[in-house]
Amino acid sequence: MKIQIDKLFQNTILQKEEWILLLSNRDRETIDYAFIKAREVSIQHFGNKVFARGLIEFTNYCKNNCFYCGIRAGNKRTLRYRLSKEDILECCRVGNELGFRTFVLQGGEDPFFTDEKMLVIISEIKNKYPDNALTLSIGERSYDSYLAFKNAGVDRYLLRHETANGEHYGKLHPNNLSNIPRKQCLNDLKNIGFQTGTGFMVGSPYQTKENLAEDLMFIAEFKPQMLGVGPFIPHKDTPFSDFPAGNVELTLFLLSLSRLLLPKVLLPATTALGTLDPKGREKAVLAGANVVMPNLSPLHVREQYMLYNNKLATGLEAAEGVAKLAESMSNIGYELVHERGDY
Ligand code: SAH
Repeated sequence: MKIQIDKLFQNTILQKEEWILLLSNRDRETIDYAFIKAREVSIQHFGNKVFARGLIEFTNYCKNNCFYCGIRAGNKRTLRYRLSKEDILECCRVGNELGFRTFVLQGGEDPFFTDEKMLVIISEIKNKYPDNALTLSIGERSYDSYLAFKNAGVDRYLLRHETANGEHYGKLHPNNLSNIPRKQCLNDLKNIGFQTGTGFMVGSPYQTKENLAEDLMFIAEFKPQMLGVGPFIPHKDTPFSDFPAGNVELTLFLLSLSRLLLPKVLLPATTALGTLDPKGREKAVLAGANVVMPNLSPLHVREQYMLYNNKLATGLEAAEGVAKLAESMSNIGYELVHERGDY
């Protein structure tokens, strides 16, 4: 199967059958070869740099009911919180002081944060920190909302497609959600000119190798500037509480395939991977990832943004632990950098 890895390395498109073969029959030799080649590509484009983003989880209210997600509307056991504009600006102040030059505002789909409210927050952040990149990850909105955010200075937008296959999407979400509007949002974001991120979970319930092949084919076609690939992890108060977590090794393999497929993509070592494996971040970087996103949210709300069981928000996942994170990167020969790291 090294042939397929070499093909990817040479920018040759793989057929669906080849993707399925790679994912189903992967052996140690192929996986290690993919890691080496992926690393070669990321070193070629980024040297040994890993970009740091400060993540601010500003609301865990959500109107949606995604079956996998711990902050789904139907989870009555979650203590809900919203950060005020002042809280958010304080996170930015601390983050800026710690050296972060990208802020990522993420939240549930919270109707409280209307476009008007978001625009005020965005303008204040961009006024105070004009040199910093601002990324939003607040779900599906209208074209006009996205355009207004862009005009107010938002640089990037993250919206994972979750799974490219419509039928599989239907098994992960209630009937009022479909991946057709979600993909439309992704097209809108890209057309408006955001650096656009998408992505998927590995090992989500009912996922087949064919589905993963479809995810890879979707990103090959969409060509996102950023890509989030992390393992599914069950949350105890969701309908998927009894499903097993995704496989770490398969996730790492998918990261390396993603790097080969999209040589310049900004590819985070996700928190979910760090949650399943204490060495997950390092392993991800060695498989081609080049972004880490430590948590900048106020300490007292961190455990309320619980998307899945045991989600990390301290230690190497915490912005205040950035020195340790830099050390862990340097131990594997990489340098944690604070530059904006635009696509
Ligand atoms: N409301 C925003 C942000 C969602 S949370 C949006 O709709 O885009 C960010 C990501 O966390 C999701 O896109 C999903 O892929 C991931 N996530 C949610 N629940 C998860 C779980 N149980 N395990 C792993 N990842 C999960």
